[in-house]
Amino acid sequence: LGYQKVLEENRKLYNQVQDLKGNIRVYCRVRPFLNGQQNNMTSVDHVDHGSITIVTPSKYGKEGKKSFTFNRAFGSTATQAEVFADTQPLIRSVLDGYNVCIFAYGQTGSGKTYTMTGPKELTEEELGVNYRALGDLFFLQQQRKETISYEISVQMLEIYNEQVRDLLSSEGLNKRYPLHVYLYQNCLYLHSSQNGINVPDANLVRVTSTADVINLMNLGHKNRAVSATAMNDRSSRSHSCLTVHVQGKELTSGNILRGSMHLVDLAGSERVDKSEVTGDRLKEAQHINKSLAALGDVISSLASKNAHVPYRNSKLTQLLQDSLGGQAKTLMFVHIAPEYEALVETISTLKFAERVATIELGAAKVNK
Ligand code: ADP
Repeated sequence: LGYQKVLEENRKLYNQVQDLKGNIRVYCRVRPFLNGQQNNMTSVDHVDHGSITIVTPSKYGKEGKKSFTFNRAFGSTATQAEVFADTQPLIRSVLDGYNVCIFAYGQTGSGKTYTMTGPKELTEEELGVNYRALGDLFFLQQQRKETISYEISVQMLEIYNEQVRDLLSSEGLNKRYPLHVYLYQNCLYLHSSQNGINVPDANLVRVTSTADVINLMNLGHKNRAVSATAMNDRSSRSHSCLTVHVQGKELTSGNILRGSMHLVDLAGSERVDKSEVTGDRLKEAQHINKSLAALGDVISSLASKNAHVPYRNSKLTQLLQDSLGGQAKTLMFVHIAPEYEALVETISTLKFAERVATIELGAAKVNK
């Protein structure tokens, strides 16, 4: 009976996964007001299952309201578990050999890191998508162990000013995790073309439990913080990418399948007024604009089925090349802040999100 149930569950999941294929899905999430600011003016009129309506100054619409439609919308009271529940089928498909890409997009402070990782002081309820995703993969790994033997490993990278940095530097790893984490120095060799990772020296670390993942992510966050100057919160101006590689061996046939998942916390999407910044800050802003624009260009050229997809235009799109387009599945979590003062950014974010949501990647030809 138990087996029947598993089969049925798998079939249900398979159907859900088929639904997800070939599209970019867009989920939109509204951050709650922080620290007792509930009485402040908000730009969010209401949120339902698949749309968000915002209050706008009259120039944006007759009624002073405008609705935006997505695959799924989450209001400010949605829990981490609810958000994850709608992401789960996609994540599970990694174990069936799919390449998956999940982005968090939005202006700084809109809740990207909260969705992907969680708040600074983590509680179990508030664990973000990253931890839950890996927890789920471990769970299924156990469940399927009679038929498939899976190896799961992770990489953690940062892209800052068009430079890619390994956040799991081996120096820190060797000191901290000598025994229970296996370190593969030569990840490119291990997973070469299948996963398209263009950072040959980046460490790929095999993980077997959520505890491993928490340890590694703490190390990654520490490495990331080290390079931030006191005044500059670098995390909002760099992209961070947790990549999960899965290799499964079917025990009867010996067939190997590979899947991968990129979980990307993008740099803040806010437009920086060029007249107000100079020096490093201007350089950062230009790099962010360039890479977010490159991401948009890749997505639209996949959508219009162009033969040439401009992956090479930024480090971000190069890194994600094999997980965008073709049979890959992409989910964009778009975040907005509820404050009325954020309205201009909110509208620009929602417009971007709606444009992405209408894109079909189905028959797109991937030009490698
Ligand atoms: P971003 O990564 O977009 O810059 P953060 O994730 O750091 O934004 O969110 C800004 C602040 O709001 C943080 O203190 C975070 O914990 C809090 N926050 C964001 N989203 C939520 C949420 N859904 N529920 C509770 N707190 C949230």
